Amino acid sequence: MTHTDALASDALAGSIATPLIDHHCHGVSPADLDFTRFQALFSESYRPPAPGTTEFQKPLGLAIRRFCAPVLDLEPSCPAEDYVARRQALGAAEVNRRFLRASGLESLLVDTGLRSSEILDVAGMAESAGRPAHEVVRIEAVAEEVARGCSSSAEFAQAFADRLAERAQTAVGLKTIVAYRCTFKIDQTAPNAVDVADAADRWFQQAAGIGKFRLEDPTIVRHGLYLGGELCRQRKFPMQVHVGFGDPDVYMHACDPTHFTDFIAAMEKWEVAITLLHNYPFQREAAWLSEVFQNVYYDVGVILNYAAPMSRDILGEALEMGKFSKFLYSSDAFGLSELYYLGALLFRRGLKQVLDRWLREDFCSLKDAEELIRLAAYENARRIYPLGK
Ligand SMILES: [Zn+2]
Repeated sequence: MTHTDALASDALAGSIATPLIDHHCHGVSPADLDFTRFQALFSESYRPPAPGTTEFQKPLGLAIRRFCAPVLDLEPSCPAEDYVARRQALGAAEVNRRFLRASGLESLLVDTGLRSSEILDVAGMAESAGRPAHEVVRIEAVAEEVARGCSSSAEFAQAFADRLAERAQTAVGLKTIVAYRCTFKIDQTAPNAVDVADAADRWFQQAAGIGKFRLEDPTIVRHGLYLGGELCRQRKFPMQVHVGFGDPDVYMHACDPTHFTDFIAAMEKWEVAITLLHNYPFQREAAWLSEVFQNVYYDVGVILNYAAPMSRDILGEALEMGKFSKFLYSSDAFGLSELYYLGALLFRRGLKQVLDRWLREDFCSLKDAEELIRLAAYENARRIYPLGK
């Protein structure tokens, strides 16, 4: 390490530890997980690992063994079996408390729309983390829940509007998974009431046939987007939009956020902030959107965990040209509290490495670097979410 490396490194050591607002995350599992269930929760696939392999044999597996093991009083990089055994011995409640409290969070914005019966709710997360937690409501999950409670499709549109408005009352944002359900390559205008009623008829008939309400109809999804957009406008909070990286429901090539430009532009007219989540491998596209649209914010989410040793490079790409004033922190952790801890650790580590380089190459002052950290850590999130501060 050169003298200037050491200087840059030391200079940011204090500010990089600043508490983070995790603006997109999910609950953690309260269950004592065996090896099979534990590894399933750090895979984006619905399938088990290939025969003869484990999920530990990828960058995220290395990171869990290297960085999480010491939090459970184990040696760094201990065997995977020992790690899972220690986790079970300590019990899920203690494990979750340790990781969540060691993450250095200011507050958590929890998406409650995914497998909510298997994980801690917002109050449970606040208690385990010892930090304030707020809810982000998933639009498509509300539509499905409402549809299940309707006796006919004729009731759907009004009941959906009423329930979404009610849920928005106590939320700090809404979220859409349009990318999962329809991709971004759809008509992005608001459908009219007749089209919505026809689509609801079709959806209810189909659900009766398969015995399950799963919203994939683009007309109803678009209706939800504009219903949600109107609530975001009224309540002056953001709409989160899933982009790119995710489970096998995603058709990745059609989830480039630049396909969603028409809706982003419509929300810009309404002064609704759009926060593009995850984005990988479209972090450069997301950064560009933050440059050209006033209302676009973005993060890199859970990919930092999945890329682990290479996460600095992805963070660097996200910061190549995007606006510091639009860049947010999220772990996108789901199920495992390790993912909260690693998300925060790798974000701090990667951001510091990027800024150390900028300092070394004399592209910014220490004050500039510290401001960038504050913006990404909490100031941007505080500016757009109603967090009461
Ligand atoms: Zn998520």
